[in-house]
Amino acid sequence: MSAVLDRPQPRPGVLAIDPYVPGKSAAPSGVKLHKLSSNETPLGASPKAIEAFKGLADKLELYPDGSSTTLRRAIAGKFGLDESRIVCGSGSDEILSLLTSAYVGPGDEGLFTTHGFLVYKLAILAAGGTPVVAPETNLTADVDAILAAVTPRTKIVFLANPNNPTGTYIPFEEVKRLHAGLPKTVLLVLDAAYAEYVRRNDYAAGIELVSTSDNVVMTRTFSKIYGLAMLRLGWCYAPAHVADALNRIRGPFNVNGPALAAGVAALEDDAHTSAAVAHNDRWLPWLTEKIAELGLEVTPSVGNFLLIRFPETGKTAKDADAFLTARGLVLRAVGAYGLPHHLRLTVGPEEANRLVVEALTAFMRGANG
Ligand SMILES: *Cc1c(COP(=O)(O)O)cnc(C)c1O
Repeated sequence: MSAVLDRPQPRPGVLAIDPYVPGKSAAPSGVKLHKLSSNETPLGASPKAIEAFKGLADKLELYPDGSSTTLRRAIAGKFGLDESRIVCGSGSDEILSLLTSAYVGPGDEGLFTTHGFLVYKLAILAAGGTPVVAPETNLTADVDAILAAVTPRTKIVFLANPNNPTGTYIPFEEVKRLHAGLPKTVLLVLDAAYAEYVRRNDYAAGIELVSTSDNVVMTRTFSKIYGLAMLRLGWCYAPAHVADALNRIRGPFNVNGPALAAGVAALEDDAHTSAAVAHNDRWLPWLTEKIAELGLEVTPSVGNFLLIRFPETGKTAKDADAFLTARGLVLRAVGAYGLPHHLRLTVGPEEANRLVVEALTAFMRGANG
């Protein structure tokens, strides 16, 4: 091994990144696994999407359509958008990274909130920029605090609405107030990964704001309600000049063919998407209520997951995590989000939801520490 300085050096910032640690996905051997750690849908992908995916199995030698034409057309048709302003990516994570590398460089600042989605910080550091954190109020983005954190160096502001892992959201009026307070040169990224699940009249994912301004981008994903997380598929709606920048820096074939085909089929299967919404509408309130009845603090969520707070001593989040994991119930520890006393629970199938409540009941009644 050569001395550290005698070998290639990553750009400043790269080694400051703590690699993203995904949710656990294993249970002890012999115990049935209920993976409730990554906000995946309990309904799986649409059977039509699975069929479309399989339909390409004997064409793997072909390059995919590098412009994602059919998928952009399908998205544009579904949401009433201009297809030339849609950019598809290998997961919305790729879109978030592309946006950051296009608009943030060394000396620039990227802004997000205390418990904002972790990928924002990673993307900013990877681009050589400086992450800046705006405080939240009650685990919710605070528009005034975000605006107060803007400096002449701010290039990008990320807002997950609703946010992961908190499940909280801000009304569209507040998003518009945030936009109105930002300099026109700052890019506002509205990450609407859970938009389909939200059932609030005062919520909007942000399409209107993208259409009427030059500095707002909305990102969406096929990983959550559409159940295609493994295929890595996301997209954004952006002003034409931002879409142009992304199209210059993205890989020429950044989205794979089976993902494109499955995405088109998933968008067409409204019945499947509605079933996923209905399942969430039933079980999100049920879980919220049952878990709150145990004396645990549950943050009101508009997504497909819940943030549960445990006592700092006695029945801690760490103990609960071990207790649940031993029973095959795998939740998400969120210490990396600055929430060491919380666990995040994804709404699962009925069986898993009932088991979680039973297990938490036993945990809270138990004599163990
Ligand atoms: C899951 C999630 C994403 C989606 O990531 P993909 O790369 O599309 O799988 C984006 N933002 C938030 C807030 C998420 O929770």
